[in-house]
Amino acid sequence: PSITRGVTVEIPKVTWEDIGGLKDLKKKLQQAVEWPIKHSAAFSRLGISPVRGILLHGPPGCSKTTLAKAAAHGAQASFFSLSGAELYSMYVGEGEALLRNTFQRARLAAPSIIFFDEADVVAAKRGGSSSSNITVGERLLSTLLTEMDGLEEAKGILVLAATNRPHAIDAALMRPGRFDLVLYVPLPDLEGRYEILRVHTRNMKIGPDVDLRRIAEDTQLFTGAELEGLCREAGIVALREDITATVVCDRHFQIVKGSLKPALTRAEIDSYAS
Ligand code: ATP
Repeated sequence: PSITRGVTVEIPKVTWEDIGGLKDLKKKLQQAVEWPIKHSAAFSRLGISPVRGILLHGPPGCSKTTLAKAAAHGAQASFFSLSGAELYSMYVGEGEALLRNTFQRARLAAPSIIFFDEADVVAAKRGGSSSSNITVGERLLSTLLTEMDGLEEAKGILVLAATNRPHAIDAALMRPGRFDLVLYVPLPDLEGRYEILRVHTRNMKIGPDVDLRRIAEDTQLFTGAELEGLCREAGIVALREDITATVVCDRHFQIVKGSLKPALTRAEIDSYAS
């Protein structure tokens, strides 16, 4: 990390190549994030306002966080991370303070990306509670709205929010100038699974009998996180079998695969997509 005007700045090391599959999505995200930062003069010349917020939604474990980091790396932007659940659990006022402080640091370190995980916890639809009884969530949401509106003058700051429950997000956040772009991050398809397996075996010594295409075919409904776990576990099985092992073989992958079931059912996955 380097220091910019008193703010510790971290540019993630994750790149687009670390993410298997999702070709079109990566391109869209790259454009939405990198163009305004790298070509901000062109945007002002044409009088177009760049996207300020992007909402990533989809099933857990399918690379929303990793995509946000890769986008920051591509744009060489400082990366700030906030968790809705964490803000929510803080003492009264502390969550809002952290939110404001993060936007402030992001402004100082611009170009910046603020990644807001579990956004629905904070940005949930406002209930009908009376105004005298403002909830923690409502106070955080109103702070977030104020900060996002303040981005108008701030150049090169983008908020990437992630959620598994896009329908729970308050409509006020979906207005133009806030989360202008909504992208669905799906479960990997066959080709995606193959590429994810390739990414996560890149630095592993795997035997010539390991057929990643076949493993991809046999791992329907697996998330990226589960495929990553499969590769890691296969390595551990190989070591458990023989601590002097030099390669991970197909049978190690098969042993692990036989003991793993995808956490999500087809019906659950479809419910994320709707
Ligand atoms: P959550 O909603 O649970 O926070 P997420 O969608 O943000 O999950 P990540 O945290 O980005 O998912 O991914 C979890 C792990 O799975 C990461 O370590 C990542 O390397 C791996 N992973 C997921 N999808 C992919 C992918 N398409 N390519 C490579 N790795 C992936």
